[in-house]
Amino acid sequence: MKDSYGREINYIRISLTDRCNLRCIYCMPEGVELVPREEILREQEILEIAGAAARVGISHVKLTGGEPLVRRCCRRLIREMKQVPGIETVTLTTNGVLLKEHLESLKESGIDGINVSLDTADPDLYRKITGGGDVSVVTDAIRASVDAGIRTKINAVALSEENETLLEFARDYPVDVRFIEIMPIGYGTRFPQTDNRKILETIRKNHPDIEKDPSKHGFGPAVYYQIPGFKGAVGFISAIHGKFCGSCNRVRLTSMGYLKTCLCYEDGTDLRKIVRDENLTQQEKEERLAEAIREAILRKPEAHCFDDPVDITEKHLMASIGG
Ligand code: SAM
Ligand code: SF4
Repeated sequence: MKDSYGREINYIRISLTDRCNLRCIYCMPEGVELVPREEILREQEILEIAGAAARVGISHVKLTGGEPLVRRCCRRLIREMKQVPGIETVTLTTNGVLLKEHLESLKESGIDGINVSLDTADPDLYRKITGGGDVSVVTDAIRASVDAGIRTKINAVALSEENETLLEFARDYPVDVRFIEIMPIGYGTRFPQTDNRKILETIRKNHPDIEKDPSKHGFGPAVYYQIPGFKGAVGFISAIHGKFCGSCNRVRLTSMGYLKTCLCYEDGTDLRKIVRDENLTQQEKEERLAEAIREAILRKPEAHCFDDPVDITEKHLMASIGG
């Protein structure tokens, strides 16, 4: 469906859990309080909400977290989600720690693509950023995912100037490496803003023949470049220095069942209240969910306010929102 600014809203990010097996310093550092388990949506509730979202025109789903693969139902959920009428693609964003061991069943479940978050390929820096992670587990998983024939992308929050080691993936594999500007949400507020234009400049120094790639690589806001001889592209997701709100196509469902219409603001609607309402018949529930989603989309703000951070109302952590 179209929102009140004429944008086609067809994509939802669904956070399956706020739990994670890493502790990235800008997302969920050590000591963060977790949401009580009973507040997190159950598998069936997620499917009911996805069904209602599909009825109002959502066709693409990204499963996220926390770390979606720490949730045991994740792979079954992908299979079930793919059966929901109207849902065309189901993809996953993961830190990659558990990816290799689950690859086969992810493939069997019909996953349409996997984004792996990898901010650096340097083992020491990776350990520091992720609170103790082993980068070789993730880089192995990325190679295995490509070998399994799954469309695989790397997402990097570029905290460091060094990105050549990440670019090696785009050189050697058909993997798009995308740089994401850090957003002032949750612990992200404690870090200086990153600027993708500077990253492009640095890359250009080593690869002067890098050029814009006008082709579409997915459903998101990334702007792509090609380096001659590279198998994958280099992408930039520049929420701050390349505001793309005019073409925003998405909403977000938090692990607690709250539908958010913009990262920047708390505004949205509590779908858990509806999906858990025992006084409603199944049909009433389906209608109420669809109506609540439709109304929320019509209230979706025109643009984020990261350039004027006093107006940011979102207080939750990225790990419960899903990035
Ligand atoms: N654990 C999974 C992962 O790391 O891909 C899924 C959840 S994680 C919250 C999703 C994405 O959000 C990751 O790529 C992460 O780097 C990104 N992220 C977390 N905090 C962020 C922030 N403040 N600004 C920009 N991206 C952020
Ligand atoms: Fe976990 Fe992903 Fe957040 Fe890192 S970015 S702490 S992997 S949820």
